[in-house]
Amino acid sequence: MVYLEISFALPCDRAIGRQTPDLLTLDYLPIFLDETPQTDEVWRVNADATILRRGDEINVFYAQLIRPRHGPTDVALKIDHSGKRAFTIATAFIDETNAYTKLVAGFQGTIVPRFFGCFQTTLSNTTISCIITEYCGEPLHTILPESPPELKAQLIDVLEQIHRAGVAHGDLHEANILLKDGKMKLIDWEKASSHSCGRQLRLLQGAIVPTAEEFGCNELYETFREMGLWTASTTPFMGSLDITYRPTCTSIRHGRR
Ligand SMILES: [Zn+2]
Repeated sequence: MVYLEISFALPCDRAIGRQTPDLLTLDYLPIFLDETPQTDEVWRVNADATILRRGDEINVFYAQLIRPRHGPTDVALKIDHSGKRAFTIATAFIDETNAYTKLVAGFQGTIVPRFFGCFQTTLSNTTISCIITEYCGEPLHTILPESPPELKAQLIDVLEQIHRAGVAHGDLHEANILLKDGKMKLIDWEKASSHSCGRQLRLLQGAIVPTAEEFGCNELYETFREMGLWTASTTPFMGSLDITYRPTCTSIRHGRR
C-alpha cells in the first residue's frame, strides 16, 4: 500500500477550495493498476504555488514527487475541488487511470506522460481524488491552425501512433497537447476508448478536403481539418453559388498508413 502526503505551497482552501489539514493524506487506488507497489510506503508531493491549469472543478499543480529509493521527480498533480460533483470527478479519474495503465500504457514516457498513480481520500463525506503524472511542460501557445508546421507534423505523428495502436483520445484540443523541450505529449485521457481505425486516405498536405465518410476516421479527420492541412472543397462562384471540388485520385492517394 502506498500513502500519499500532499503539502501545498498555497493554503488548502485556495489550492483545492476547502479547508483541509495542512498535510493531506490520500490512499493509493490500486484497482486498475498492473503494478501495485507491494510495500507500505509513503510518497510525498510538494505542490508548488504554480497552478498549471485552473478549472471550475479541477486544478493542476506543478509539484515534486518524493519516493523512497528515487530522486525527486517533477510531476503534475491533478486534484479535484468539485464538492458536490466529487463522485463524478472520482469516476473520471478512475477512467483516466484505466487509460494510462491499459489503453496507452505502452506510450508512457514517449508521447504520453509517465503515470505514477491515482489516490483518494474522504474528508467530511466528500471524496478528494488526485492523479500524478510526469510533468510534461506547457500546453500549445497557439491554436492548431496557427501552429508552426513542425508542431503540426509532430501532432500528426503522435495521433497516427495512437490510432494505429487502436486508441482514440476522445477530447483533443490545444490544452491537452503539451510541449517540453520540443517533445509533444498528450494528456487528459479520461474519454479515451478502444478504437478500430477506419481511416482510408493518406494525408497529402494541400490536397482538397475529403468528406468525413471518405476519410473514414472522425477524430483524425476533425483534427487534421482544424489544423488546416487541406484546402477548402468549395470556392465562391459569381458571388453566390459554391462549386464543390471533389477529391480525385491525383489529389488524394488511397491507402492506409
Ligand atoms: Zn482512427
